[in-house]
Amino acid sequence: MSNKKVLVTYPLPDEGLQELKERFDVTVYKDGYMPKPVLLQSLKDCEGVLAAGVNLFEEEINAAPQLKVISVYGSGYDNIDVKAATSRGIVVTYIPDVVTDSTAEIAMGLMLCTLRRISECDRRLRSDDNFKWGMMKNMGRLLNGKELGIIGMGRIGRAVAKRAAAFGMRISYYKRKRLDPVIEMELGATFKRLDDLIRTADVISIHTPLTKETWHLIGQRELSMMKPDAVLINTSRGAVIDEKALVRHLAAGKLAGAGLDVYEDEPAIPPELLQMNNVVLTPHIGADTIETRILMTKESAQNIIDFFSGRQPFHVINPEVLQLSEK
Ligand code: NAD
Repeated sequence: MSNKKVLVTYPLPDEGLQELKERFDVTVYKDGYMPKPVLLQSLKDCEGVLAAGVNLFEEEINAAPQLKVISVYGSGYDNIDVKAATSRGIVVTYIPDVVTDSTAEIAMGLMLCTLRRISECDRRLRSDDNFKWGMMKNMGRLLNGKELGIIGMGRIGRAVAKRAAAFGMRISYYKRKRLDPVIEMELGATFKRLDDLIRTADVISIHTPLTKETWHLIGQRELSMMKPDAVLINTSRGAVIDEKALVRHLAAGKLAGAGLDVYEDEPAIPPELLQMNNVVLTPHIGADTIETRILMTKESAQNIIDFFSGRQPFHVINPEVLQLSEK
């Protein structure tokens, strides 16, 4: 066993951490989300960090003078200042593949729940004495035949496209660079300009990362262009949508509904959304299946093991750091 100190910032499934623990001096934070002062203190002497549920921005990175590798527990890395890490020669890895299916399932679940009013009916059956059974009392809308507009057609976007096609949806998509026509054909997906997709889609599902470019990609202007009976689904990152503008549109009845797994200021949710029956809310559970969490833990631990064993980890975000250290 090496005496390198590795910090795991969240109580992740132990079966995924065995090998890491056998090889290094591992500290696992056991009490849920790590408060910032504890994180800053714990980073002082560690050489590797498995970063789950924490931000590692410049301040945190500066607090870790020994740090050599950050293994991000997820496919989004907007919680890491990659530029600051790179300038310190710290390698940053992530695990984009393992979360695809579980997140695509949540996007489909939110679509079904919103259009077919599943969670609203469930909630009212349990709590509303005046809830009415009967034909035409709780009508939803079909997914079958509707246009699903996917914004960001990467791993999760494509996994959603496949599932939605099985529900009989017509798939359009927007990304910055059009897909190869063969992949378009396989997915049965039509490329549209962003504004065209927003104007025609019955359901819009967002699957971009959060970057400077995608921050508030769906704002007041875009929401105003959506069909009034359209539904917006977001399992990417909250800030891709201007949440305040979304609340205004929903409150004014200018949008039929929304299904949200992510929020601008998590874990805070705008109180207006909590009151709306046409909005389905989940607490960032895209990757939250037992199978996925164990795999995520194994893969992000493996990235640290690979790095310290001199092997190139899978999915390095800043490979230029590795290239420099090879010279
Ligand atoms: P990916 O990198 O495979 O795909 C991202 C897609 O977005 C690509 O097609 C890319 O071209 C496109 N894109 C990037 N910038 C764009 C822009 N400015 N305009 C249009 N398209 C743009 O990523 P992925 O694995 O599909 O994951 C997408 C995001 O989902 C992650 O970055 C993460 O933030 C989020 N996510 C959330 C959960 C959850 O628990 N809700 C789980 C996993 C991932």
